[in-house]
Amino acid sequence: MAKVLSSNLGYPRIGEKREWKKALEQFWAAKISKDKFLKTVKNLRLNYLKKQREVGVDLIPVGDFSLYDHVLDTAVLFGLIPERFNKDEKEISLETYFSIARGNKETEASEMTKWFDTNYHYIVPEISNETQPHITSNRLLALFNEAKEELGITSKPVIVGPVTLLKLSKGYDQEHFQTLLDSLIPLYIQIFSELKNAGAEWVQIDEPILVKTLTPDDLAVFQKVYQAFKEGVPGLKLLLQTYFEAVDDYKEVVKLPIDGIGLDFVYGKKANLEAIKAYGFPQDKVLAAGVIDGRNIWKTDLAATFDELESLLATVGGKDKLWITPSSSLLHVPVTIENEKELDPVLKNALSFADQKLAEAVALAKGLNEGKENITTIIEKSGRDLDALQQSAHRNNKDVRKELDQLDSDLPSRPGSYKLRQQIQQDAFQLPLLPTTTIGSFPQTKEVRQARRNLRTGEWTKKQYDQFIKDETAKWISIQEDIGIDVLVHGEFERNDMVEYFGEKLAGFAFTRFGWVQSYGSRCVKPPLIFGDVAWNSPITVGESAYAQSLTKKPVKGMLTGPVTIYNWSFVRNDINQADVFNQIALALKKEIHSLEEADIRMIQVDEPALREGLPLKEEKKADYLHSAIYAFRLTTSSVNNDTQIHTHMCYSEFDEIIEAIDALDTDVISIEGARSHGEMISTFEAFKYKKGIGLGVYDIHSPRIPSVDEMKSYAERALKVLDPKIFWINPDCGLKTRRPEEAIPALKNMVEAAQEVRAELGDIVEK
Ligand code: GLN
Ligand code: ZN
Repeated sequence: MAKVLSSNLGYPRIGEKREWKKALEQFWAAKISKDKFLKTVKNLRLNYLKKQREVGVDLIPVGDFSLYDHVLDTAVLFGLIPERFNKDEKEISLETYFSIARGNKETEASEMTKWFDTNYHYIVPEISNETQPHITSNRLLALFNEAKEELGITSKPVIVGPVTLLKLSKGYDQEHFQTLLDSLIPLYIQIFSELKNAGAEWVQIDEPILVKTLTPDDLAVFQKVYQAFKEGVPGLKLLLQTYFEAVDDYKEVVKLPIDGIGLDFVYGKKANLEAIKAYGFPQDKVLAAGVIDGRNIWKTDLAATFDELESLLATVGGKDKLWITPSSSLLHVPVTIENEKELDPVLKNALSFADQKLAEAVALAKGLNEGKENITTIIEKSGRDLDALQQSAHRNNKDVRKELDQLDSDLPSRPGSYKLRQQIQQDAFQLPLLPTTTIGSFPQTKEVRQARRNLRTGEWTKKQYDQFIKDETAKWISIQEDIGIDVLVHGEFERNDMVEYFGEKLAGFAFTRFGWVQSYGSRCVKPPLIFGDVAWNSPITVGESAYAQSLTKKPVKGMLTGPVTIYNWSFVRNDINQADVFNQIALALKKEIHSLEEADIRMIQVDEPALREGLPLKEEKKADYLHSAIYAFRLTTSSVNNDTQIHTHMCYSEFDEIIEAIDALDTDVISIEGARSHGEMISTFEAFKYKKGIGLGVYDIHSPRIPSVDEMKSYAERALKVLDPKIFWINPDCGLKTRRPEEAIPALKNMVEAAQEVRAELGDIVEK
C-alpha cells in the first residue's frame, strides 16, 4: 500500500555525551590503539542507526557518519587529495586522512571553511589541473553492507553530489571544471552501481549548491550529470537533496532526470512553496519535504505543519510520492533533550533535538498514513508546550517590548561626526601616532582554567576566585605597561567564552548541559539558547574594567561582545524576527555601555567577529541582514559621548563584500586580521578609502611563532601604503587567550618596537 515515508538526511556524529569526540582525541593522542578506536566508532555508528530505527524512521542514511568531515570523506573517496599528501597509497590510510584534516609535523593541513551559512566547517578539497579522480575505496558500499549485515537495515546511502563537490573545492582553473566533472561522473556511476547491486533502492545526492544563485550554464551542467547518472544506473532511484534555502531555479531543477527532490520548507519555505504553486510538481517524482527545522532546536508546530503537508500531499499526487524529513542534516543540532535535567520545564518542553525531531517526522508521516486522529495526542502536546513558553513571563517582558516599540526607524547616530570625535578624542587621550593595543584576552593558562574549576567545584569561595582574577589582571596591566603598549585591556581572565559570559548575566538566555554541536573535526560548541526577551539586569563587566583602569593612567578598553555575534553564535527563538532579537540584545548592551561610561571607562570595544558569517546565502537577502546588523550595532554604541572612543574587532580579512557596512558601523577604531592572511585585505582598502581609526593585525596569533620586529614592520608598512598614518593602529590579529605568556610577551615587545620604528620613519612626513 502506498505510504508516506519518514526520512533522515543525516544524524549527529558526536554522540549524546560527545563519545565520538573523546574517541577521536584519544586516538590522536595515541592513548588508544587504532583497533580500539575503529571498534569504538563502529559501535557508535551502529548505535545511531539503531536509535533511528527505534524512533521509526523509514529511510535511515548511511555515509553521513564521518571520522572528521563528510566533504573530506567524499574527496578521499575520489582520490582528490592534496599532492603533498599523495604517497601513492591506493587506499588512503586513516593516518593520511587525519593529516589532510589536521596537518602533521611535516605537512600543512588543508584549509577549512564554513559549510554554507552554518557554524559547521568542512575541509576544502584541493584539486589541481592535473588531478586524476579515481575511486580509492567504495566506503558507501561498506557502510551500506554494514547496516544490512549487522542490523538488517536497508539504508539510504548519502553522498555529496559532484557539482557541489567541485564548486566547493579549490586549486584548479575554471576551464578544467568540465574535464574534472567528466572524469567524476563515471566514478559516481560505479559507486551507485555497486550500491544498487548490493540492494540499495535509493541514494541521496546532496547538492546544496542549488540554493546559491545559478547560471544557465550551471543548469546545463546539472542536466548533463543527472542524465548520465540516470542512464548509467538504471533502476537505482536518485533523490536530489537541497537545503538551507529555496532552490534557485525550481522550474528547471525539478525537471532534471531524477526520481525525487528534497526541498527545505523551513529556511526556503516561502519561495519553495510559491514555486510549487506556480509550476506544480511532477507527478512521477517524490517530494522529500523538509518541514522539521534541522538547524534550530524548537519543537515543530505540528498542527500547522500537518495542514501544510496535507496540501503538499494533494499536490504530489499520492502517498508514495511524499517523504517527511528534517530541513537539513541534523548535524547542526544537539542529539537529545533527554539528558537535560536542569532546564526550566517550560523551556525544556518546547525543545526538540535530533532524536525528538525524528520522532516528529515519524509522527507526521503516521498521521498522513493512518489519519490525523492517530496523532492527536502528540499534536496537542506540541501545541500546548509551544504555547506555554509563548505565554510565559520569559517572552512577555513589557519593558523590553516597550523599548523595542519606541525604536526609531532612522539609524541611531553618535552626537558628533567622526571628524569632530577624532579631534576631541585626540585631545583627551593624547595618543602617539600609530597607537599600540591588543584585542582583549591574554593567555588562559592552566592556572586560570584551574581557578574556574575550583570555583565550580566549590574548592574555592567566590571571594578567593575574585581575588585570583584581580591578581591576574593586575599582573597583566603591569606587563602591558612595561612593554609600553598605549591602550591597555584587562585581559578577560574571568571569561571562558565571549558569548556565554554575557548570556549568563542577561535575562532571556539558557544553557544546556549536553547541547553540543560539531563545529569542525572533534571541536564541538555548546551554543547558548536565546529563548526569551533579552534584558539587562545589572552591570556585567564594570567591576573588572574599573579595577583594571584604577591600576593605570593609560586608557583601558572596556570589552563587550556585540549583539550580532551573540545572536549568530546562539540558538535563537523563532517567534520574532532577527532584527528584533538583535535589537533586544543591543538595548541590553547599551545599558552596559552606559554603566561603563559612568564608571569612567573612556574606550569601549564591542567585538563583532561573527558579523560576516551571518550573511544570508541569497544575494537578495544580504542588504536586509546588513541593515539590521548595522542598526543593532549603532543602537548599542551610539549614545555615548563624543569623547568616549568606540572600538570594534573582527577576526578575519575578507572585507570586500561588507566594507561599506563596516564603515557604516561608525566606530572610532576597528581592529581586524592582517598577518595570518598575509595582507590579502590590502586590495579592499585600495578600492575603498577607509577614513576612520583602523588596525590591521601585524601579529598572527594563531601560531606559537614569535614574529620578528621586521616582519611586523613590514605588515604595517604595507598597510600604510593604502591607509593614512593618522588613522592607523598597531595590534595583533586577534585575542591572545590561546597563546602562552612565553609567546605573547616577547611578541608584544616586538610589536611595540615595530611601532616605534615605523613611527620614527614616518615622523617627518606627518609633522607637515
Ligand atoms: N576580545 C576578544 C578576545 O580578545 C575577541 C575574540 C574574538 O575576536 N573572537 O579574545
Ligand atoms: Zn578576533
